[in-house]
Amino acid sequence: METKSSSSNFIKTVVVEDLAAGRVKEVVTRFPPEPNGYLHIGHAKSICLNFELADEFKGRTNLRFDDTNPVKEDAEYVESIKNDVKWLGFEWDGLFFASDYFGEMYERAELLIRKGLAYVDDQSADEIRDTRGTLTEPGKASPWRNRSAEENLDLFRRMKEGGFKDGEKVLRAKIDMASPNINLRDPVIYRILHAHHHNTGDEWCIYPMYAYAHPLEDAIEGVTHSICTLEFEDQRPFYDWVVRECEMPSVPRQYEFARLNLTNTVMSKRKLKQLVDEKAVDGWDDPRMPTISGLRRKGYTPEAIRAFCRELGVNKSYGVVDERMLEHFIREDLKMKAPRTMAVIDPLKVVITNYPEGQTEWLEAENNSENPEMGHRQIPFSREIYIERDDFMENPPAKYFRLFPGNEVRLKHAYFIKCEEVVKDAEGNVVELRCTYDPETKSGSGFTGRKVKGTIHWVDSSGAVPAEFRLYEPLITEGEEDDGGSFLEKLNPNSLQVLQGFVEPGMKDASGGDKFQFFRHGYFNVDPKDTAPGRLVFNRIVSLKSSFEL
Ligand code: ATP
Ligand code: MG
Repeated sequence: METKSSSSNFIKTVVVEDLAAGRVKEVVTRFPPEPNGYLHIGHAKSICLNFELADEFKGRTNLRFDDTNPVKEDAEYVESIKNDVKWLGFEWDGLFFASDYFGEMYERAELLIRKGLAYVDDQSADEIRDTRGTLTEPGKASPWRNRSAEENLDLFRRMKEGGFKDGEKVLRAKIDMASPNINLRDPVIYRILHAHHHNTGDEWCIYPMYAYAHPLEDAIEGVTHSICTLEFEDQRPFYDWVVRECEMPSVPRQYEFARLNLTNTVMSKRKLKQLVDEKAVDGWDDPRMPTISGLRRKGYTPEAIRAFCRELGVNKSYGVVDERMLEHFIREDLKMKAPRTMAVIDPLKVVITNYPEGQTEWLEAENNSENPEMGHRQIPFSREIYIERDDFMENPPAKYFRLFPGNEVRLKHAYFIKCEEVVKDAEGNVVELRCTYDPETKSGSGFTGRKVKGTIHWVDSSGAVPAEFRLYEPLITEGEEDDGGSFLEKLNPNSLQVLQGFVEPGMKDASGGDKFQFFRHGYFNVDPKDTAPGRLVFNRIVSLKSSFEL
């Protein structure tokens, strides 16, 4: 398939030029997640971009945990991220932690101080913010801006030794308080934080700021093309300043692309974590979550996610991508792969009164009508079957072609049946249908005597395997994906619907991760978490049809 990335990937163009001009010998990229949550589909876009770009040019890609902020990080997240990247099908060359570079970052900060390019500021965070100026006004210099290099070195070392409290002092780059780019108005590069770090323990009580740390991490690893999202565009001059003034031997360059947003979902880790912490979902891997682990549990395949990301390409402008585009790719991927079987998710019992009691026959059913290579299976048929409750209506509207009193339909892979009688309980609920079948109409027999308009699916009652079906709707309903903070109150109350029904006998040994197309219902995945011996749980990945056109 012709994809957008093959036609409009501006980063690829840059790489080709860099290789041709000899600026780089080998392409080195990195995927740099902060281990403060699970990865989501937006990260997948960045992962695919970085790994596939390096692969194409026989380069390398590192997985680097950007763990410079000690407070929010956790080893659980580190493991889940490694697992997700591997599952997507990528192998990193180097595995690094930004915190391993704290020593070098500190040395480079001393270098800046000695060069007169960094100073210790005693102002509070508020004072620093208030004196930064605006887009139209320059900032105001700190009263501490002109400390001598000796004094700054001494203070910075004492910051490192734990001589000050959190927030008492910071180290700032000394650049230009009147720069039109606010990021160059003496940005803070180190802060004091007496906090335990998951990797370095209590070794440090000063931590580098992201904007200072990131270019150094890239340079230390020899990254050539540092790809990030568009919000960092205004940081690029500072990125280049850090690499230059810290005298890094290797010079990475930063390129920006638009982050992925999907309709009907929240994508920031902070919000996803809120959903988990408030128990609005069943953990990070809840199938309603846009996390890689949620999509995997729902039944998405790595192939579908990668094809989706490839189609997205590398764009420079923001936009919200229709989630149906993601769904399109899982349908495409499973179309030829998934066995097509029958499941009744909201059963209604049907007794076929003219079928001999105690008799069972085996009917042949193709496993995938579009992929003959998947062969056939045998399914039982007997006097009692289940059909879908909403395939029957007692008083149907016009153009209803399924079962109603007196009407005849085709049972997929089996016979025509005709509804003769409706059995109700004391409250008037329909509990059973009594039908007759016509033995002449067996599927595949070439019967042409008459036609029926409706074909419905069914499961024979004898070997039917009880199963739970989980149907999903978006967590966030239309238009509320970007409402700031209060999204938790507006969650879709119908985002999960649970039904108890039956699948064909042949599926009793299905196991976590097996995928099926259930006739008329869509694609389903055997839930890997809640399925157990004697308990089958299916997650609906996606329904069969969509109005979406690529
Ligand atoms: P979030 O706001 O969801 O926490 P983040 O950018 O803080 O995202 P990081 O762990 O810092 O998350 O991101 C790792 C990499 O993934 C970064 O290079 C970032 O640019 C990229 N990334 C994160 N979210 C998206 C997204 N929605 N679309 C594309 N790339 C993304
Ligand atoms: Mg982040």
